[in-house]
Amino acid sequence: MSKYVYSFGGGTAEGDSTMRNLLGGKGANLCEMANLGFPVPPGFTIPTDLCNIYYELDGDYPEGLKEQVNAAIVKMGDIRGGAYGSTENPLLLSVRSGARQSMPGMMDTILNVGLTTETLGGLITQTGNERFAYDAYRRLITMYSDVVMEKSKGIEPTEGRGIRLQLEHLLEAKKEALGAEGDTDLTADDLKDLVDQYKTTVERVLGTPFPDSAEEQIWGAIGAVFDSWNATRAIAYRRIEGIPDEWGTAVNVQAMVYGNMGENSATGVAFTRDPATGENIFYGEWLANAQGEDVVAGLRTPLPVNDLMKNDSSDDSETLEARHKACYDEMIDLREKLEQHYGDMQDIEFTIEDGQLWMLQCRTGKRTGAAAIKMAVDMCKEGLIDKKEALKRVSADSLVQVLLPMVDPAAEGAAELLAKGLPAGPGGANGKLVFTSDDAVTQGKENGEKVILVRDETSPEDVHGMHAASAVLTAKGGMTSHAALVARAWGKCCIVGCSDIEIDVENRQMSIGGKIFKEGEWITLNGTTGNVYDGQLDLIDPDLETNVEFTELMDFTDEFRRLKIRTNADTPADAQRAIGFGAEGIGLFRIEHMFYGEGSDEPLFKLRKMIMSSDEVERRAALDELYPHMKSDIKATLDVMSGYPVTIRLLDPPLHEFVPHDANARQELASELNVSITEFNRRSDDLHETNPMMGHRGVRLGISFPEITEAQVRAILESAVELTQEGRDIHPEIMIPVLGHVNELKNQKKIVDQVYQEVREKYNVDAIDHMVGTMIEIPRAALTADKVAEAAEFFSFGTNDLTQMSFGFSRDDVAGFLPDYIEQGVLDNDPFQTVDQDGVGQLIEVGIERGRKTRPDLKVGICGEHGGDADSVIFCHNINMDYVSCSPFRVPIARLAAAHAVIQD
Ligand code: PEP
Ligand code: MG
Repeated sequence: MSKYVYSFGGGTAEGDSTMRNLLGGKGANLCEMANLGFPVPPGFTIPTDLCNIYYELDGDYPEGLKEQVNAAIVKMGDIRGGAYGSTENPLLLSVRSGARQSMPGMMDTILNVGLTTETLGGLITQTGNERFAYDAYRRLITMYSDVVMEKSKGIEPTEGRGIRLQLEHLLEAKKEALGAEGDTDLTADDLKDLVDQYKTTVERVLGTPFPDSAEEQIWGAIGAVFDSWNATRAIAYRRIEGIPDEWGTAVNVQAMVYGNMGENSATGVAFTRDPATGENIFYGEWLANAQGEDVVAGLRTPLPVNDLMKNDSSDDSETLEARHKACYDEMIDLREKLEQHYGDMQDIEFTIEDGQLWMLQCRTGKRTGAAAIKMAVDMCKEGLIDKKEALKRVSADSLVQVLLPMVDPAAEGAAELLAKGLPAGPGGANGKLVFTSDDAVTQGKENGEKVILVRDETSPEDVHGMHAASAVLTAKGGMTSHAALVARAWGKCCIVGCSDIEIDVENRQMSIGGKIFKEGEWITLNGTTGNVYDGQLDLIDPDLETNVEFTELMDFTDEFRRLKIRTNADTPADAQRAIGFGAEGIGLFRIEHMFYGEGSDEPLFKLRKMIMSSDEVERRAALDELYPHMKSDIKATLDVMSGYPVTIRLLDPPLHEFVPHDANARQELASELNVSITEFNRRSDDLHETNPMMGHRGVRLGISFPEITEAQVRAILESAVELTQEGRDIHPEIMIPVLGHVNELKNQKKIVDQVYQEVREKYNVDAIDHMVGTMIEIPRAALTADKVAEAAEFFSFGTNDLTQMSFGFSRDDVAGFLPDYIEQGVLDNDPFQTVDQDGVGQLIEVGIERGRKTRPDLKVGICGEHGGDADSVIFCHNINMDYVSCSPFRVPIARLAAAHAVIQD
């Protein structure tokens, strides 16, 4: 008969951590911990493949499962004591999900399964603690009615009308009526009364009584865990994280240990290192006299485990270390063992039952990008892992997080601090207030607004809203609450436990210190400090120079990668910044960009004059005026890049974009050109193109107006000679864009060669180091690359245009329909972000292969936006490019991806 149940406990287990595909992460690690002799409550795992069978059988179980489950439960009772369903010494169970990859809070947990009116008496006799027994019972009713009787039945109550919330309101009302501060102030009688109210409410709201049979409860709970795999929120999380549907979840059934047995009991969540910063400190939160749900669900704000974790708001809280010194020391010892064993940071759930420590779970902990980097580098230094492993531990997404904007400290200093919460997710964010997840999706995703989602606490139902929002703020919950875990994993700015906020969801508003904030008003969050500000504060780029581990990790990448990393930069400042990030050259300097932005008024005016010229004489005159600007810009960037190659692309402007629209500016330009406004308008109409993306741009401009190419080449070569004479090490690469036919390049090359001779003579030098090459951004150029390489010394793939021309998607208009393609799964992702390897990728491969056939030493790179996309960089490595080029801030991502490419080889 097939094996459907894998037991663990009492120092042995039928599985281990290598079996996570079968047993899920939680099950495999429980087995592993049991094997290591850790104090794990006995239990068993029903494996993930049963989940698929369950769905194949339409919610039924295969033959033999029940017998195996029953036998495993008997075994648990032998180890822990007691028997399931016993009226004298009842064994209670926890039933939890556990997928292959952890999905924090996405699926369901039911505790205290097996409590009925009959077994309750046994629990009271056994423990001599009536209050505890009723507390356990009211928790079971809450979780079971929510998970099994409501969610797994597909009942979707309206906001605020879910059974769990209704029961919690009864609890709140009870506390209020009695003037009790916390749950723990309620007596056995109060809880007894509450249990009666709960049962009546469950029957009234859900139409069925709460099941009073231990047998019915265990199977209801197991089925609900399987059902939860296909709950809306779990599906939403899988889509975001790319987890396949067919993986399924395992079910873990464990003997209950009780953290709610009184003041000598407790429960908590801890990380072997700080998951927010990566610091090597034991980090965690705990609650006295509580069960696990209280910590993770964020219902009570938990306490720090030790003094290291304290902050302003928890300064006088009692630590776990102070209250349960022996258990704390035992955990510190286990922490060390876990890190040595797994070689990574672990996330632990624990319970202290009447002074005895139990480990309920361990898994590799989620972490922020900054923490991922710090832990990888630190663990490498500590000898836990090697450099390769350290690099593998940091994903491109983690790196993106440390490159994320932060709140401008200057703006922050001057701003009004509204409130302070716990800094759960990194970086800074500003946005308009929204109070429900659906609103976050409508306004954030669909209307493209920047929104901040504010909730009392987030539950797993909020995943879609959290994803759509630029940041999340909650009034309740701790650093290990659901909101914090999910935000951290996504690198989303998040502040939790901000108790000064009072939220009124119905009226879409909140109040802080009596001041009302309505939906749509701006606030700013600093997720690194937990500060909440009124209004829209400026965000700035982070200061990476002071991040030692970031720099060290980047050094690791250089030891492995083969690809060179260049940058797309158009100003000396950008070039300098890129060098700071490790760029080894410029792969794309777009000449026309010098006419954008600050200080460009004068050259722009002159460029416009050149564009509006009607004949060569006029144009040459305009070019002469433009020349000094062009040369000084090119020279300044070449200067900064001394020692590195710089690819300078000749003008590729959409001409009509440079014609002024403003009446005064048009008049001014007409006067300068000495033509009437009617003549000016006629020339402007002439420049209008129906499809400028395929219009008179790039090399076509140089063919129509050779004097434009001439001036640019002269500016490049003269700058190079002058800088060389000043002792600089200058390597310009002249790049001809938008090429379709080799003859276009040959035509332009003649001009380059002519100017080269003139500049050589003018400065009386023998040679000027330079190369001439082209962009491959039109399919025909890729297909005829063998011919193009006759005239080109290098190729740079312009994958923005190559993607446009291959798909026939206009870059300017694609946003109108591409979202439909992604949503309907027609395309997996945006081909303008990640190279479409099947189609566009083929053209690139063919281009390289044919180009190198003609010219084996042909230098090949990429300068489209894809040069900074991790997957595309790996592709570029695999097809043997020499370098990738991307915007300065993406240089670190490209360096890491280039190293990953080698490690994966
Ligand atoms: C490209 O087409 O990929 C490219 C880099 O050029 P541009 O984006 O300027 O058209
Ligand atoms: Mg292009």
